[in-house]
Amino acid sequence: MDYIERERRRLEIDLHVLTRRWHGTLSRMFVLRGRLDGIDPTDVEAFSRTANALGAFANDATSLKRDVDKVRRRLASFDVDAQRRANADVDGSCRYLTIDGGRCGRPTVGGSRWCGRHVGLWSDNMAEHIIGEWRALYVEHGPDGDFARSTHVLRVGVSELRATVDESRRELAQGYETDDLCPSAEIECWTTLPEDLT
Ligand SMILES: [Zn+2]
Repeated sequence: MDYIERERRRLEIDLHVLTRRWHGTLSRMFVLRGRLDGIDPTDVEAFSRTANALGAFANDATSLKRDVDKVRRRLASFDVDAQRRANADVDGSCRYLTIDGGRCGRPTVGGSRWCGRHVGLWSDNMAEHIIGEWRALYVEHGPDGDFARSTHVLRVGVSELRATVDESRRELAQGYETDDLCPSAEIECWTTLPEDLT
């Protein structure tokens, strides 16, 4: 099993565990609803205690269902062959984008374009491999002017990187000034897609 199959397996296990927890919570809700039916509502304390417990389980069930749907969507879009193509080795050196604007460059492993340190990192939001580190830009409005600023380091997959660049360009389009905290060179760097993504 390679790093891609392992990720697919991990998603399958996640889906299984979350679905079981969701079903378990639904069963407890059914039990509590039955119990509520048997309580005389004039026994306010017992009634409200059970109703509150039912409400808490209903909240859990709602968020578990959201998690189940999210993992199910990720799993549905996780194509092992497509992942293998997208992450195939290029030139034997790791393509991971480093925060200084370069590439990692260590020897790749397992037929992938990533070194041992950067292989098998997956995006939390999308079913895609992390391709490196990036910053988003925004404009900070203050009494001395509207200055461009960069966020903390983000670890991004391909579509996240594209979305981040688009969002930064949109944000800066409202106009900005530069200072030492975020000079023009940095703005140029974080609003320019890497050459192999253009
Ligand atoms: Zn690397």
